[in-house]
Amino acid sequence: MSTRTTPDIKHGDRVTVLAGKARNPRTYAVLARDFTIEVTHVGSVDRTTGTVEIDGVVLTATGTYASSSGNIVSRSAIVGADGYTVPIRLGDTVRIATGETAVVTAIDECDDGRNLAALRFASGEIRTSCNLAQMEHLARPGETAAGRSSARADEQVADGRSKESAPPRPDCAAEAAAEDVIARPAFADLPEGVLLPEWLTDAEARELLASLAVRFGWVYAVWDRVDLTHELSANADGQVRYEPTDEQFDRVVKTSEWDTVSEVAYRSVEAGGVLREALLEAGLECVDCGTPLTDPPEATGRLCGEHRVGPAGEPAVVDPVTGRLYRLAADTLMYAGSSEATLPRWGAAPVDYAELDPLATARALDAEAALRVISSTSSTPTAGCDAGTGAPA
Ligand SMILES: [Zn+2]
Repeated sequence: MSTRTTPDIKHGDRVTVLAGKARNPRTYAVLARDFTIEVTHVGSVDRTTGTVEIDGVVLTATGTYASSSGNIVSRSAIVGADGYTVPIRLGDTVRIATGETAVVTAIDECDDGRNLAALRFASGEIRTSCNLAQMEHLARPGETAAGRSSARADEQVADGRSKESAPPRPDCAAEAAAEDVIARPAFADLPEGVLLPEWLTDAEARELLASLAVRFGWVYAVWDRVDLTHELSANADGQVRYEPTDEQFDRVVKTSEWDTVSEVAYRSVEAGGVLREALLEAGLECVDCGTPLTDPPEATGRLCGEHRVGPAGEPAVVDPVTGRLYRLAADTLMYAGSSEATLPRWGAAPVDYAELDPLATARALDAEAALRVISSTSSTPTAGCDAGTGAPA
């Protein structure tokens, strides 16, 4: 059984549409017989039913284009996620008629419609011109072995199709098929050993990027066709009138303005001093003098030893939870606790014990006691002017 929930099918996929599960788009009747097609068009997913209409060129058991009176034959179907077999794509693991398993490293299309694949076996051996129609899909990179892979295996075993063996046709003037989709470059400059499936969709690529960003602590912004769609003139009701096609999006991608988007964003971050603020907030340097600090803000208050003082140079202690400063001003305990303030002395106000929870009360009492010990043993003046409010002490 398949665990697919939404159809994952695209132009160029070769799938067998399954009897009993797919429907005729015109009559909506459930199909009584399987047929195999090379997909030439995929409609949009019906969100209510989770189905999609697909069109394709009918293929024979050996993967050639079926013809009738010299014309190729097209068929359509409405399929849900389990209405068709899993297509074999680049990077997939397959089983061939001999029972060996291998990874698909290239797929070339012949003039007669057959798709011939290059396979890499675990031994490192590469075999070319292997007919895609005589392979069984086992797994796709990044997916668990259960689920989608078993669907095709079950179907194949059930109808015995994978056991057919057509005479080998080893050679084919394999030329990359000209497809009526925008040719995007393959994934370039991948690190050694990293394999990304060519079928990766826009949405999946976004998820991948988000996952990488979490893993490596990146922040990033992406502008894509969704942002463009929002920029298109709306209709009278304020609704988007259309979504850019691949070809239209490709035209935008090639403009000089599109080229400058990330540069403008970088400049804006730079002008805002955002990165500097981030490292100061993290306590990497003294906010007053830039001295490197190794201890966290809860220990340093984001200040070096010399500058860990109040606005008038009076002693200050750091709250061990918030990393913000306590100090005495005219015998009153002050706390610089504004959560919006990056600088540790900002937003100082007299401590109101009545408003504090027990833990904060305990920390404030500790700080006050420590400050009273310091001020009683030091000649540093305790009077000062509160920098946060500017009010006289
Ligand atoms: Zn300093």
